[in-house]
Amino acid sequence: MDGVSAVNAVKPSVLIVEDEPGLVELLRYNLERAGFEVAVANDGEEAMTAIAEHRPDLVLLDWMLPLMSGIEVCRQIRRQADTANLPIIMLTARGEEGDRVRGLDAGADDYVAKPFSPTELISRIRAVLRRIRPALTDQVLSYADLRMDLTAHRVTRNGKNIHLGPTEFRLLRYLMEHPGRVFAREQLLDAVWGKDVYVEARTVDVHIRRLRKALNGENEQDVIRTVRAAGYALDTAEL
Ligand code: CA
Repeated sequence: MDGVSAVNAVKPSVLIVEDEPGLVELLRYNLERAGFEVAVANDGEEAMTAIAEHRPDLVLLDWMLPLMSGIEVCRQIRRQADTANLPIIMLTARGEEGDRVRGLDAGADDYVAKPFSPTELISRIRAVLRRIRPALTDQVLSYADLRMDLTAHRVTRNGKNIHLGPTEFRLLRYLMEHPGRVFAREQLLDAVWGKDVYVEARTVDVHIRRLRKALNGENEQDVIRTVRAAGYALDTAEL
């Protein structure tokens, strides 16, 4: 995966969390037709595993699930640092205002009541992704005062050009596509270097150091957060 050619090939991925097979198939069919990559989990526990494994771009979460309710799944996703910003749309038969509020209170980004039209659902999914992850719909990524133009292969901070090596560029791109999310070194290796390449985890530290040096210059704020024993995130929250 390299440079500009990959940009158009990136399909946003959606995890469907629903236990009704008929509805799962309806959703899968419509989402795939709309250009999404689709994964399915049938209950909350499967959902947490699938999120950890597949890192979906958005979760479509049914309220009524066996074992653990959709609301509880939503809370769990929000509680974990590495999934706290994962976009969630709740799906439910309940249409009352009180439930809507409860869903949004639990951390859902949007709420769609059944029955819904697939076309409307897909436009809501696109709207949430555009709002939360412009990376998936734009050729330009931005975070704080950083801008990455994927077409021109150019990075600026506060309007000033930043020169990055190809690995630092890919690393920054991945972080900018998932701002605020904490990634373990191994996850960054898989995403940036590729799963088939054997590279030591320490290599990530080396490239993060170079990336920091290039981005921070003399006295800019550090935009990369090191999470002890966990990994790295693009995050200015602590500043
Ligand atoms: Ca259900």
